[in-house]
Amino acid sequence: KSKGRNEICFYEDQKNQPEKLVQSRLESEVSKAFDRDEFTLYFQPIIQGDSSLVHYEALIRWHSPSLGTVSPERFIYAAEQTDLIIQIDYWVFDQVCKYLARFSDKSKKVSVNLSLKTVESVFLEEQLMSSITRYQIDPNSIELEITEHSIMRNTAETIAKLERLKRCGFSIVIDDFGVSNASLNHLRLLPVDKIKIDKLFIDNIKSDNKEWKIVESIVLLAKTLGLRVTVEGVETKDQYYLLKNGNCDEFQGYLFSKPVPFDLIEKTETNIKEL
Ligand code: C2E
Ligand code: CA
Ligand code: CA
Ligand code: CA
Repeated sequence: KSKGRNEICFYEDQKNQPEKLVQSRLESEVSKAFDRDEFTLYFQPIIQGDSSLVHYEALIRWHSPSLGTVSPERFIYAAEQTDLIIQIDYWVFDQVCKYLARFSDKSKKVSVNLSLKTVESVFLEEQLMSSITRYQIDPNSIELEITEHSIMRNTAETIAKLERLKRCGFSIVIDDFGVSNASLNHLRLLPVDKIKIDKLFIDNIKSDNKEWKIVESIVLLAKTLGLRVTVEGVETKDQYYLLKNGNCDEFQGYLFSKPVPFDLIEKTETNIKEL
């Protein structure tokens, strides 16, 4: 209770491998939640440099009747310990296609997060194309954000698969760029269109500090390779102006909007235009 509302915490038995105990409980709760259809999607706007707003990231939400709201940081990690993450990512992708079909403005794009486990699944292309066909979506309106929580295993196969998806029209984004020490290797191997610099690097940037120099160098590296750059976690105008002048292409963060349910997207767009 001391953590306030919307926070869950599990009883931990110190003597009994606490992490394992908590983890397995969460894993089985996530699996039940999937069967019970307890997940929903939120959408966070991504501002394009020319301030035309045509892009969103789909972010999963879980409100459990028994546990309350559980952060995706926690339950996605739990799901990644099993193959459940693959089912979850497919579900999100299918929902995104369903929502995309409802946009009257066909230039809108949505980013979907795919865990590496999902990317490596043998049914990936089949699954994505089945949703694409069912809702008659143009793959050009979908960006696949590859998250780096796990290590790439079937490298050659994965690269070939991503190249095929890219030829279909999907964009490939390296998410959380710089956080994992695999980032540069992914950049070297994968057919990437864009990198997304993690909030971690953005939090403390000031025009004269180390964080800013790191971001500047990452942007230079990306531009040299002909890639676009999105920055995440932009919370202040100072950060926004610094990053905009620093050649970043797209901006995402609470300064513009928190993730919102699909029905609030239009209202959010109006608010952003007034900003
Ligand atoms: P991510 O892909 O790096 O997503 C960005 C996270 O930063 C989101 O948290 C978003 O709400 C948050 N964020 C964006 N701007 C700001 C800001 O200005 N300030 C602050 N404080 N936070 C900001 P969220 O929604 O909790 O998601 C956490 C992570 O969970 C995601 O990180 C992603 O790795 C994972 N995730 C979410 N949905 C999915 C999904 O459908 N599939 C997979 N595989 N992973 C997902
Ligand atoms: Ca992401
Ligand atoms: Ca992440
Ligand atoms: Ca991130």
